[in-house]
Amino acid sequence: MLWRRCLALLFLGAMTAVAQTGSTKKADSKPAGEVKATATIGEKKVTRPKSFDVDAMDKTVDPCQDFYQYACGTWRKNNPIPSDQARWGRFNELAEYNRQFLHEILEKASANDPKRTPVMQKIGDMYQSCMDETTVNAKGSTPLKAQMDRIAAITNKQQLMETIAYLHSMGVPALFGFNAAPDLHNASMEIANIAQGGLGLPDRDYYSDADQKSQDTRQKYLEHVTKMFVLVGDEQAAAAKEAQSVMDIETKLADAAFKRVQMRDPKNRDHKLKLADLEAQAPNFQFERFFAASGAPAFTEVNVVPPDFFQKTSATVDAVSLDDWKSYLRWHLVRSAAPTLSDAFVKETFSFYGQYLNGQKELQPRWKRCVQMTDGLLGEALGKPYVDETFGTEGKQRMLKMVNALEEALGQDIQELDWMTPETRKQAAVKLHAITNKIGYPDTWRDYSSVKVMRGDLLGNVQSARSFEVKRNLNKIGKPLDKKEWGMTPPTVNAYYSASNNDINFPAGILQPPFFDRAADDAVNFGGIGVVIGHELTHGFDDQGSKFDAEGNLSNWWTDADRAEFDKRTGCIADEYSTFVPVDDLHLNGRLTLGENTADNGGLRIALMALRKEMASDPKAVKDKQEGFTAEQRFFLGFAQVWCQNSTPESSRLLVKTDPHSPGEYRTNGTLQNSADFAKAFGCKTGQKMVSANACRVW
Ligand SMILES: [Zn+2]
Repeated sequence: MLWRRCLALLFLGAMTAVAQTGSTKKADSKPAGEVKATATIGEKKVTRPKSFDVDAMDKTVDPCQDFYQYACGTWRKNNPIPSDQARWGRFNELAEYNRQFLHEILEKASANDPKRTPVMQKIGDMYQSCMDETTVNAKGSTPLKAQMDRIAAITNKQQLMETIAYLHSMGVPALFGFNAAPDLHNASMEIANIAQGGLGLPDRDYYSDADQKSQDTRQKYLEHVTKMFVLVGDEQAAAAKEAQSVMDIETKLADAAFKRVQMRDPKNRDHKLKLADLEAQAPNFQFERFFAASGAPAFTEVNVVPPDFFQKTSATVDAVSLDDWKSYLRWHLVRSAAPTLSDAFVKETFSFYGQYLNGQKELQPRWKRCVQMTDGLLGEALGKPYVDETFGTEGKQRMLKMVNALEEALGQDIQELDWMTPETRKQAAVKLHAITNKIGYPDTWRDYSSVKVMRGDLLGNVQSARSFEVKRNLNKIGKPLDKKEWGMTPPTVNAYYSASNNDINFPAGILQPPFFDRAADDAVNFGGIGVVIGHELTHGFDDQGSKFDAEGNLSNWWTDADRAEFDKRTGCIADEYSTFVPVDDLHLNGRLTLGENTADNGGLRIALMALRKEMASDPKAVKDKQEGFTAEQRFFLGFAQVWCQNSTPESSRLLVKTDPHSPGEYRTNGTLQNSADFAKAFGCKTGQKMVSANACRVW
């Protein structure tokens, strides 16, 4: 489990990377100070996303009643959700734009050319094996046979645990998670970590919520699992029985699991146990045997997230019959492999997870899925040519300048807070000054030379790449934390803060319009990427980040009185966002989204402080009035327009239950209704909807 807090949840982030092709033309993003409306990719001209756009607004709406609709109304009307997406917003626009570069790189790399570099061969043949639909379909589910046979051959619980270790080694997440993670009390070291998991539905609550919709979802899930068993060759009646066994086991795992909101509290993730104590608390897992079978280096302590899950589930390991466990493992193997199997598996998986749970109308075209798969599996191999194509040094320098401006603004904000005592204030400043940043792409690219990739063997390739990542991760146990490693690939349209590293990270993929536009003035850029930087910095001081110190350790640097004041203020944010109703009668969970909402509110405030400081020091840097809007008005519009989006009701429902981020509408209006600066910029008065009667502020 990674303690990373990111900017947005992306289903379709173009997380990828390729090796040097040297063949595609340069995109238009390189020339300094110039961003054109189109870019050239190979022979194609493609449209670039725009930054601040007056045509996206709906000026018939009163900005003091609904600023989101005012800033995004026309964009939302003109941008219905494409049939192969579950939601569509500015993030997706940019991710799709990036995906076209990756597509071009992969199409070229996939030509069977003996002169390809080893890295180009890997990404090219990974992509080719995915695009080779004829071979994939001809094989049906036969690529799974060896693993299915191995599950069938289990004769006792000891072999059961060894087989789970084997499945984990291929990236199949059965029963629980096992990985390396930074020690919560000594963040410079990585230790072994086991975590609750093993479910096929999106959250533990899906197994227990009593409302009609949740009951229907469980019924649909049962039908889906049954169909998948039929597809691997089981008789209908046997398949239905197996699906019920899967449901029974997963319901027990869900019952034993902590809720998402509980998992936000670092103390629920902080249980380092001696191996012998873990064995005593959860004997039926036979952990020593499991760890040995996993191929991980030897260790004596493990962080258990949380012990309750393993204690309760240990009884389940014993109580459930071996046949039922075999059904459960077969299901998770098939589920994990489904995207690499024949059409029938892909379509059935889409009909449940894509269509039913997310409201997506159509499966994405195969090339999109194959680009995404290559990106997910060989991300830093595909990332290098992407960066070579698209990312110039000028952008990095301007970005660094903005990061410094935002850090300075947060420093000033901390000094000026009226609720914090000098003792805690001093510690907050220490933590802020220790935050480091990474911009664009890694200094050293990951070495994939041990991953075997060959044409015509999609599942084999996927399992080889997954095994490589599992091994790479487990080998970190007992080693120092590598602070240079990235948690996202270069083309990703996202950003994150890591509490253990105490750093903020901005992949090249997001450093483009609408977030960052070298042709736009700073008012708009501070509203876009400036708020993003402020958001990530504030994560270091949200309900979770505030419990970690400058070194990334879980340790309390707060006085009790200041912590009580902090809790009062975050409580205000939690209550405020819990009043929002994104779909039907479903309220946002203000506690689940607390960290993100705190980061949005703090990020907006310090980005505006930084902009004002720049305007004061260099009056020519920002134009007074442009397209009828003052600099501060453009700042707020630039901020809001990053969040223009449309979402299917199904996707909205799923995200309310699982996503720690609020939907775009509330990220915009929820944040702005707390801002007196916003009200002043647009002349909004007390009593109007965009002016909160009880404005919340933490940072
Ligand atoms: Zn965030």
